[in-house]
Amino acid sequence: MKIGFIGTGVMGNAIASNLIKAGHNLWVYNRTKSKTDNLVAAGATWCDSPQAVVNAAEIIFTMLGFPQDVEQVYYGEKGIFAADVAGKTLIDMTTSQPQLAQKIAQTGQELGAKVLDAPVSGGDVGAKNATLTIMVGGLQTVFDECKPLFDAVGSKAQLFGPSGAGQNTKMANQIMIAGTMTGMSEMLVYAQGAGLDLQKVLDTVGAGSAANWSLSNYGPRILKEDYTPGFFSKHFLKDLRIALDTAQAMGLDLPATKQAKQLYEKLVDEQKLGNLGTQALVKLWWK
Ligand code: NAP
Repeated sequence: MKIGFIGTGVMGNAIASNLIKAGHNLWVYNRTKSKTDNLVAAGATWCDSPQAVVNAAEIIFTMLGFPQDVEQVYYGEKGIFAADVAGKTLIDMTTSQPQLAQKIAQTGQELGAKVLDAPVSGGDVGAKNATLTIMVGGLQTVFDECKPLFDAVGSKAQLFGPSGAGQNTKMANQIMIAGTMTGMSEMLVYAQGAGLDLQKVLDTVGAGSAANWSLSNYGPRILKEDYTPGFFSKHFLKDLRIALDTAQAMGLDLPATKQAKQLYEKLVDEQKLGNLGTQALVKLWWK
């Protein structure tokens, strides 16, 4: 299949690699060109704009950082919608705003394109190992057509409803992660304060009813003082802001998520550590 891939950072690069491994032909674009070098070496073709990617491919994935990046790549000069998108399928995997997903779907529909929002969970490890969980919004027929591609990069893909439903599911996921990240950080700070053997604590707590993905994936990185991303703290703060804004629009109050957002604001905005992984939250207590 002729596949376009725009945004080849931590997640996009690994996902695009898995699509090449699955036998697909790829046309790629990224703001920093060097992040496509390994893909071009594996057989992908470099394009010099999102518009050029759409011209070459039938199904186009985007995996960008922030909603403003998504706006630019879809609506900007030489962007996706500057090309003839009629008959093409556009899949945004960025964690972004549900309302932006709806706007892109509306524009796509007017121009004859099929559109899905398909954010993912499973981290850098899930992207590399093709074990991502993919949360999709859009039409059932389009989801069914794209399911083999989702299966090539993930272990679970689920349609949740119309456009924006994938992003809303991802926000639900991030609200849960807010709890596991703050819980893990305070658990470690407490265990250290009590003079416990932290490796033993991780092994034991991780085997009981407090077991969770954040603990098993990020706990060991913290003990090795490895704060590389993984998942950028600046991106998690972006997610918490989207979740809280969307919740507010629904008339919902999420006080624990608000607290997590304030902690990540301290890390990202005050301490300027947004380019570290989300596990760096523990640094607020642990110097
Ligand atoms: P990343 O490494 O920063 O990748 C984003 C890529 O998009 C970068 O390579 C960036 O280019 C590119 N980009 C941004 N704006 C662009 C533009 N206008 N034109 C072309 N390329 C552009 O981030 P990531 O970790 O892969 O995360 C991507 C998304 O997935 C985020 O929304 C994140 O919240 C979400 N997510 C991440 C994880 C994780 O564990 N990492 C897990 C689930 C979901 P540059 O190289 O020039 O910066």
